[in-house]
Amino acid sequence: MRKKIVAGNWKMNLLLDEAIALNEAIGSHINEKQYDCEVYQFVPSLYIFPLLHQTENITIGAQNGHPEKKGAFTGEVSMHQLKNLGVNSILIGHSERRQIFNESNAFLKEKVDSALSENLKVFFCCGESIEERENGNYANVVIEQLKQSLFHIPEEAMKNVVIAYEPIWAIGTGKTATPEQANEMHIIIRKAIASFYSEETANDIRILYGGSCNASNATSLFSQSDIDGGLIGGASLKADDFISIINAAK
Ligand code: PEP
Repeated sequence: MRKKIVAGNWKMNLLLDEAIALNEAIGSHINEKQYDCEVYQFVPSLYIFPLLHQTENITIGAQNGHPEKKGAFTGEVSMHQLKNLGVNSILIGHSERRQIFNESNAFLKEKVDSALSENLKVFFCCGESIEERENGNYANVVIEQLKQSLFHIPEEAMKNVVIAYEPIWAIGTGKTATPEQANEMHIIIRKAIASFYSEETANDIRILYGGSCNASNATSLFSQSDIDGGLIGGASLKADDFISIINAAK
């Protein structure tokens, strides 16, 4: 039985006092209840340090990290520095990094290698555009992203990977994939993992859905056979919404 994960992606939102208050509100709610799911928040780099040890039951992760250990990369933070700070998880391959920051599959592969070498848990994001969904090529696109940036790692390292399937057309648009559309893609991803690695690894890996997941649709998404929780953008910024999503993952 795979333990569900609910992970927030705050992106470039919130001021420090708001971030502390949000994390505190969600953390104290979780502490009062017994949850059998894992909760992560991927926060802006600036807030990692103040939030890292604020609450026991939320793991604070990084939204980005550079694969080089150190050097002349103005404005960047390395995976090595993140690990040194006490961070243990990172988002890689988010569509906003791919599109806005032109991160290629080859660069994402370097990031994956660097993160795993630092023993960071990798939340690897993949997903197709609206054109690719409509022309029916979405499965190939997603599997190709995985082949080019992730499937080179040894099977043992897949234990430190979570996959987030995030159709680009559903991110921040309010347009969610139907539970059936999402589950179909999760099954395709799991089958690809079975054929590249093994049935055991395919059965063990957590595959999250991301894209306008919210308090109203989380239960139907999370009840699908192959959806192991969610990566949540907009709805992770409001304590009540995020708590409802955690409740849906029970
Ligand atoms: C995301 O950015 O990872 C995401 C899923 O965003 P939203 O939930 O706002 O669509």
